[in-house]
Amino acid sequence: MSDSATKINLLGLSPAKLIAFFEQQGEKKFRATQVLKWLHQQGASSFDEMTNISKAMRAKLAEVAEIREPEVLLDKTSRDGTRKWVIRMDGGSAIEMVLIPDGDRRTLCVSSQVGCSLDCSFCSTGKQGFNRNLSTAEIIAQLRVAIRSCGPFEPSKRHVTNVVMMGMGEPLMNFENVVDATQLMMDDNAYGLSKRRVTLSTAGVVPALDKLSQVSDVSLAISLHAPNNELRDQLVPINKRYPIEELIAASNRYLESLPDKRAATVEYTLIDGVNDQPEHARELAKLLKQLPCKLNLIPFNPFPNSGYRRPSEQAIQRFKDILVRASIITTVRRTRGDDVDAACGQLVGQVEDRTRRSQKYIPVVQEEPAQGKMSQV
Ligand code: SAH
Repeated sequence: MSDSATKINLLGLSPAKLIAFFEQQGEKKFRATQVLKWLHQQGASSFDEMTNISKAMRAKLAEVAEIREPEVLLDKTSRDGTRKWVIRMDGGSAIEMVLIPDGDRRTLCVSSQVGCSLDCSFCSTGKQGFNRNLSTAEIIAQLRVAIRSCGPFEPSKRHVTNVVMMGMGEPLMNFENVVDATQLMMDDNAYGLSKRRVTLSTAGVVPALDKLSQVSDVSLAISLHAPNNELRDQLVPINKRYPIEELIAASNRYLESLPDKRAATVEYTLIDGVNDQPEHARELAKLLKQLPCKLNLIPFNPFPNSGYRRPSEQAIQRFKDILVRASIITTVRRTRGDDVDAACGQLVGQVEDRTRRSQKYIPVVQEEPAQGKMSQV
């Protein structure tokens, strides 16, 4: 067995688990805080850098633990400053993450799984099939890699101000690792991001959302995409298990469990002729009265052989106007930087599919080159 298989990767331990780790080693709790700061505030990649820890303890740590980060395979910056990385995960899979600057905000879009098991009809990640959950270390490493790429490693420099779990995968299907990673993002001794600036996006795994309310207070985004069950069943197959009413009720329960008053973000990918008609907008406006929320309209980002089209600008505006008139706070995600291939629903990475779903799909995909469009979160 290699070292990596036997040593524990400290990057993957939540603050609570790091304390437990040090207690198991017979060490004091405050060591966990020291190491947490080294790992996540100083970006340490070796125990030797941890100068406020004795040499003997560093040597002991190096015997049982390691600090292991995925390799960066690609780092591309678009003309408008949007930046994309491809990083290699254990086992050879690769995933993508994107940093989107907008005024004072620099939002990192983070992946939670290699591929995705949900198979939403308009999402290219789903078409690649599913391989596995990312570990906590692999999720948090995306933030570390992004911060390090932006200059000296200092979270306080605000290289990344917001994190959205809107990359590849369904975060609530990788519950524990995602919760641990978001705890690191929000811990003052680690990345110290405010809970309003860390957002988990879900297609609606209702029981997991209820479980989340017991252990976390991240901000919530739900991927709705349709105003009624008949249409949503076609676009978001998990709707057949947990229909819209249950998702809205669970979202309300989640918001009520938070210590502060917060609205959810509702994501709605607008697809030409499918869910972008005025009657859909009116039905959506009515539905959204049932949830404190703001609406984010995302014009469909095309990918080869999706069978869908982006609506015209007029159709997008018409849809938005109906919602705005119904007093729903509505924004449209602007399309940016089409010179790097990354966008909502277009993150692909390299997925060794375990579901065989991609076999139906990939041979057809390869006939046409991808039209990369970057969207803003
Ligand atoms: N599984 C989670 C997290 C993935 S983020 C979820 O469903 O919320 C998924 C978001 O990407 C969706 O809300 C949708 O807004 C967006 N998306 C997926 N495919 C897209 C596409 N082809 N064009 C535009 N947005 C897309």
